[in-house]
Amino acid sequence: MARTSDVATLVSQAREGQPRAVARLISLVEDASPQLREVMASLQPFTGHAHVVGITGAPGVGKSTSTSALVGALRAQGKRVGVLAIDPSSPFSGGALLGDRIRMQEHATDPGVYIRSMASRGHLGGLSWSTPQALRVLDAAGCDVIILETVGVGQSEIEVVGVADTVLVLLAPGMGDGIQAAKAGILEIGDVFVVNKADRDGASATSRELRHMISLADRPEGAWRPPVLKTIASQGEGIPKVVDEIAAHFAWASESGELTKRRERRAADEIEAIALAALRSRMADLGSNELLHDLATQVVQGSTDPYVAADQLIATLD
Ligand code: GDP
Repeated sequence: MARTSDVATLVSQAREGQPRAVARLISLVEDASPQLREVMASLQPFTGHAHVVGITGAPGVGKSTSTSALVGALRAQGKRVGVLAIDPSSPFSGGALLGDRIRMQEHATDPGVYIRSMASRGHLGGLSWSTPQALRVLDAAGCDVIILETVGVGQSEIEVVGVADTVLVLLAPGMGDGIQAAKAGILEIGDVFVVNKADRDGASATSRELRHMISLADRPEGAWRPPVLKTIASQGEGIPKVVDEIAAHFAWASESGELTKRRERRAADEIEAIALAALRSRMADLGSNELLHDLATQVVQGSTDPYVAADQLIATLD
């Protein structure tokens, strides 16, 4: 754990692109360190540059393979790239667990690429603030693009990628057809759809079905129309087109105001999570307090109800 006096040094080292400092700062986020307030204050002026791309899709569709291929294509354009893999379901520290999942060995020694996995803590709201904070570290470290990948499926995954500037939804023939995608709620969140494993039967049918389902959505004039692309990620085929479409979405989002809107929503979630965590910790201090015990006694005796009791408790937090 860094001493308070080290924070300034760590931040300036991270800004110079020193991977160890970047890793250290993300560990502070992962550990919900009390120093985060200072870290975030120092990083704030250097953020807002990176394009955050979230990747979602069922396990096995090729997220890791695609991420690796995208990193390669972005590096070829001279971009600095961050990869943040998040396991929303695991309360355990992620490094070792997630390390194998990211098929990133080929990029491991490239100084223009930061790869980091992070387990979000088990406590409520952890995800809402830890993801934007880790993104802020990578952003301040000079990443042009940050790929946000989640491990595991479900609602939490959609929440995580929902904070991205651009959401890439990955499907594979026969695995995640349009109906399944609609059920999982990913049709609404996707900005770019990719049918991976196009070397397999059914890729064209899956793309057609997806295009049809996307076309059914009501879109106002000037809205982004999510493209449906095909890739063979394991061979890098179709990846340059994905990179182009991601960039096109970012350009559209910047121009249309959608980017600001998404970033404000991300910040609002983060602020709310931090505020709730602060309240919860003050409540925890109250747990040993007489007042809560007294109120509980009154509720059990029937002399007050839990809503009134809660109001009284909140009133003492000011
Ligand atoms: P993830 O669980 O979504 O991250 O999927 P992975 O990237 O780990 O890929 C799952 C498996 O599919 C691996 O064995 C990959 O080599 C394979 N795979 C990835 N892309 C393709 C592709 O385009 N075609 C084929 N045939 N296999 C692929």
